[in-house]
Amino acid sequence: MSEPHLHHGQCHCGTVNATFRTEGAGVHVRACQCGFCRRHGAKTVSDTDGFADIVSDGPLVRYHFGLMTADYLMCPRCGTYVGSVLEADGIARVTLNAAGLQMKPWDDQVAEPVDYAGETLHERLDRRRARWTPARLRERAMA
Ligand SMILES: [Zn+2]
Repeated sequence: MSEPHLHHGQCHCGTVNATFRTEGAGVHVRACQCGFCRRHGAKTVSDTDGFADIVSDGPLVRYHFGLMTADYLMCPRCGTYVGSVLEADGIARVTLNAAGLQMKPWDDQVAEPVDYAGETLHERLDRRRARWTPARLRERAMA
C-alpha cells in the first residue's frame, strides 16, 4: 500500500484553494478533448479513493453545456477553470484541473488525450461516479 499524499493548488489570484488527498500512486493526468477543456488547456486529475477539498472566498462561477451533467467551476475573481463537479446520490465528486490550480506534480506533466464525445448520458455518469474524487466544496461569502 502506498501512503496517502496531500497536494495543494490555487487559482491565479488565490481566491480558490484546493487540497487533493490521493491514496494511490496511479493518478492519471488527462487532457479532455472537448472544446471547453482545450480552450483552458486543462489537465485533469482524479482519484476515486482520494478526497478533494475546494475552498473559495466567494461563490464559484458555474458553467454547464452539452449533456449538462456537470458544473464547470471558475474562480469568481480571476476566471481560472479549477475543476468540475457532479453531485449524485448525495455525494459531490470532482475532477480537478491541475493546470489551472498549478497543482504539483501534474501541472507540467504531459497529459493523456481523452475524447468522451461519443458517450451516452448514462455512460458519462457511470464513468464519473467510478473515477471522480469525492469532494467537499466550501464557498464563503465574498468579503
Ligand atoms: Zn482566482
